[in-house]
Amino acid sequence: MPPAKPNNPIAFIDLQAQRRRIGPKLNDAVIAAIESGAYIMGPPVKELESKLANFGQAKHCLTCANGTEALVLPLMAWEVGPGDAVFCPSFTFAATAEIVPLVGASCVFVDVDGDTFNMSPSHLEATIKATLREGTLKPKVVIAVCLFGQPANYPALREICDRYGLKLIADSAQGFGGTLKGKHPTYWADCTTTSFFPAKPLGAYGDGGAVLTDDDLLAEQLVSLRMHGQAGPRDVQNANFSHEAKYLNVRIGMNSRLDTVQAAVLLEKLAIFPDELAARDAVAARYGAGLSNAVSTPRLMTEATSSWAQYTIKTDRRDDLAAHLKSMGVPAMVYYPIAIHKQIPYAKYPLGPGGLPVTESLTQKVLSLPMHPYLEPDVQDYIIHAVNSFGGD
Ligand SMILES: *Cc1c(COP(=O)(O)O)cnc(C)c1O
Repeated sequence: MPPAKPNNPIAFIDLQAQRRRIGPKLNDAVIAAIESGAYIMGPPVKELESKLANFGQAKHCLTCANGTEALVLPLMAWEVGPGDAVFCPSFTFAATAEIVPLVGASCVFVDVDGDTFNMSPSHLEATIKATLREGTLKPKVVIAVCLFGQPANYPALREICDRYGLKLIADSAQGFGGTLKGKHPTYWADCTTTSFFPAKPLGAYGDGGAVLTDDDLLAEQLVSLRMHGQAGPRDVQNANFSHEAKYLNVRIGMNSRLDTVQAAVLLEKLAIFPDELAARDAVAARYGAGLSNAVSTPRLMTEATSSWAQYTIKTDRRDDLAAHLKSMGVPAMVYYPIAIHKQIPYAKYPLGPGGLPVTESLTQKVLSLPMHPYLEPDVQDYIIHAVNSFGGD
């Protein structure tokens, strides 16, 4: 007998299930933050930064307003601007590429690997070489993405970046918590950025972001940049300034801070995050066992763990399968139906040699299934049945 349809609507991501587990703690944390009166840069922000750095095996963690600005801040610190090439995938969320023209630089799009969905190291190198040959843009930075939760091939990307003198950013907005050989991306990348948008694996109750780095100078610059270019210890020493350092502005920065209330929420959520990652792994394993004959299931690199921001399958009959799932009450989403280089504002930026055939094919084939740590086995079995019954009923 096929599994019964669940009584309640199936959620694609169920944030309320987490509230049933730690709701009272979260509520208390929010009230305490409000009652403290320290709304901006209150003690929970520092505490969170220290715990995030520890979790992500990084020397420094600086929180900021969102995952998009977490990408902007290092580019500002490195003075990336007009004439500079920033290599990034096109099979990603818009923010990864958007911040490049925002600082005045040029995106150069690199194809991805069809199995991992992440930046192809060989195509990156070919693209860097082509950019150097062409000669109008100066290669500066590579932004790789841990798409859907799995780290990109950072060891290979680091080697290429070292060969050409490029900085490497790990955009881990979706992949925070994912590891390679037991290490988080900052082991290879100059910095790792993440987002606390509510639907990300580690999400707040509003916007938030962070940058993790082992680089002392970058960390100091980020602290300054997120606070209007306020002077840091090195800057004060250099400036011979006798007033409050707060009013010494030494670079063009902006306002990009994490609210104390969000930090308080994230501290509670970080405490159960390792447990939630294990639960996501179990959900992925159950999908893998149940689905592998029907569709192409996601593949992890050797010694990789994923934070499973999405569980994304591939099929040649994607749109028909999506319609079939919808008819059975199973929500499924297409991440991403349009590659960034096909979007109007990005059409003018160069592509690596041979274009981006893998990216373009993936936009036709991918479909993401419900994924969150509280997905119950019987609900999951119904989802698996729904996928497997496609074409077979
Ligand atoms: C969500 C996301 C971002 C941006 O994060 P926000 O907090 O929404 O600004 C950047 N990159 C990727 C890959 C994302 O998924």
